[in-house]
Amino acid sequence: MKKSDIDRSTSKQSAGPFSDHSIPKYSALHRRSFIKGAALSAVALQTGIANATGVAPAPNKRDYKRIAVEESWMPPEIFDDIRDMASAKAADEPGMAMLWGEVMRMPGTNKFREIISDISGHRLGVMDATGIDIQLLSLTAPGVQIYEKDKAVAMARLANDRLADGIKAKPDRFAGLAAVAPQDPGEAAKELERGVTKLGLKGAIINSHTKGEYLDDPKFWAIFEAAEALKAPIYLHPRTPSPDMIKPFIDYPLEGAIWGFAAEAGLHALRLILSGVFDKYPNLTIVFGHLGEGLPFWISRIDAQYNGFVLKRSKSPRARKLKRSPRDYFMDNFVITTSGMNWHDEVMFGHKVMGPDKILFAVDHPFEPAGEAVEAVDRLPLSAVDLKKLYQTNAERVFSL
Ligand code: CA
Repeated sequence: MKKSDIDRSTSKQSAGPFSDHSIPKYSALHRRSFIKGAALSAVALQTGIANATGVAPAPNKRDYKRIAVEESWMPPEIFDDIRDMASAKAADEPGMAMLWGEVMRMPGTNKFREIISDISGHRLGVMDATGIDIQLLSLTAPGVQIYEKDKAVAMARLANDRLADGIKAKPDRFAGLAAVAPQDPGEAAKELERGVTKLGLKGAIINSHTKGEYLDDPKFWAIFEAAEALKAPIYLHPRTPSPDMIKPFIDYPLEGAIWGFAAEAGLHALRLILSGVFDKYPNLTIVFGHLGEGLPFWISRIDAQYNGFVLKRSKSPRARKLKRSPRDYFMDNFVITTSGMNWHDEVMFGHKVMGPDKILFAVDHPFEPAGEAVEAVDRLPLSAVDLKKLYQTNAERVFSL
């Protein structure tokens, strides 16, 4: 990838078929086609204050805060483990090895390590320059889910202690989610409780599959039981598709943010819905990024097929009648965020489908440029009331900020 492909400040790309006046200067979608599937693009290496030029922070002129809720963080210890595992082409994590292997070969990896593990240095500078008041930080994919059980539990604790310490230094600017290790569901539930009650964290992040397993398996439900009891939402964040799913994604390569992330996370959400987990934990909230990983667009067809083909024809023992339709669970138990999705028409579609109380602002720093995200949302044709909900009050409600 050439620097010119990723440097927005000098971008001369045609706006292409996705041109929209609401995204000035450049087309994020067009640009994204150059970033070969990796959310972990070299954007992260270039990102920062320069991206924010042209956006006036003017905090005193706003009657709302901008709270960004899917903001990536990773302590150096986990970064280094991922680098080692990616370079060893970890056989049971083909997606991680490919995506992170590419990232680790890019120039500036050490700078990226510094940026993603930072809390109140470079990160705060980006927030100030773009008018973002609060970032909700979380351990980015693949998180602790690459480790064997005992190490995963230990690294989740380390990450949460470190994150809580970082937040304490600037509590008016940062909040965070606890990392948990589904490899040990009982310990994950305990760590979620510790994170919320002792460390002041606001929920949990789970980076989709754990060694190919999905959370619809009841062996994981202690995590949901704890989350519901604590009124703590779970951010179901994407990662590269599970080992059984990834093969046909690889050639082009489609396993990253280009499509694989959404395919993996969307599948995970539907497995959860159809498992009946929300019948057992009706007050559980799942936060779902990237405008709902495509599900708002598909939800009426999913409902029709579930009530038609799946219930009437499927012989799968797991295809059973739920108390409600898939659409009902998606509307009531999920909220979506705008992370990495700045195209006006897509955001407005998500807003319309989910309703004004169920869509939250997110950037996905440092993988996506904060200035572009703020600029796009500022230009949405929303009422002042709905804009404040999207930027501030929905996040405050969902994460008890
Ligand atoms: Ca992310």
